[in-house]
Amino acid sequence: MRGILVTLVAMGLVLFGSSTAPAFDQPLSGKTIVIDPGHQLGNGNPKFADEMSATKFNGAIVKSCNTTGTATNSGFPEATLNWRIAKQLRRLLEAQGATVVLTRDSNSRSKWGPCVWDRAGIGNAVKADAMVSIHADGGPSSGRGFFVIQPVKIKGWTDDVIAVDQRLAADMISGMKAAGAPPSTYIAGQLMVSREQSTLNFSDVPTVIVEVGNMRNSQDAALMTTTAGQRDYANWLLAGLTRFFR
Ligand SMILES: [Zn+2]
Repeated sequence: MRGILVTLVAMGLVLFGSSTAPAFDQPLSGKTIVIDPGHQLGNGNPKFADEMSATKFNGAIVKSCNTTGTATNSGFPEATLNWRIAKQLRRLLEAQGATVVLTRDSNSRSKWGPCVWDRAGIGNAVKADAMVSIHADGGPSSGRGFFVIQPVKIKGWTDDVIAVDQRLAADMISGMKAAGAPPSTYIAGQLMVSREQSTLNFSDVPTVIVEVGNMRNSQDAALMTTTAGQRDYANWLLAGLTRFFR
């Protein structure tokens, strides 16, 4: 009898171990998360000037399709940083069971966009549980660290989702800080509230922009330009999202 029990327990362990990973190992199972790597490497290419200058009213202000983004003092482009962090973050989120959608599929000097309203449209189309737009700031060189941009309530635009946007922003800030992300030294509470961000205003799903750091600051730039540093940013963003979905 004892032998049979031991055998059954052993069989159970084998079956359990060989089945697909159980839910408690994949806390983001069933969640659809959109990662928006800000800008595109070709946005500054003069041949895309017409596409870049297309405009739309975003509920608060008329904004253009997209912009070039910033760079480190040595010329490492924001578009490339955002792209590399996004790919690292996708891998981490998928390992936790999430379905991940990126808003662009390349980082290329011969590509432009997509426009910010189309990026928001991707999150809306897949009914994302959360969308994080990855950017980096070009702020005063003496300041460093990450901050989060949250929309304001605009009737007919953000009013249906603003409460969850606010919770997502708060959880990103506390989760990223707890995981060790250097907090912004020049944005109070690491939170900027803006009524002008098209990515946020066109979005019907919980969305925030994270400015992961300041590309003009030498300490931040040193992190941003290494694979290990880019992985750190991805892990910090993961910590924020994990807190939101806990
Ligand atoms: Zn940006």
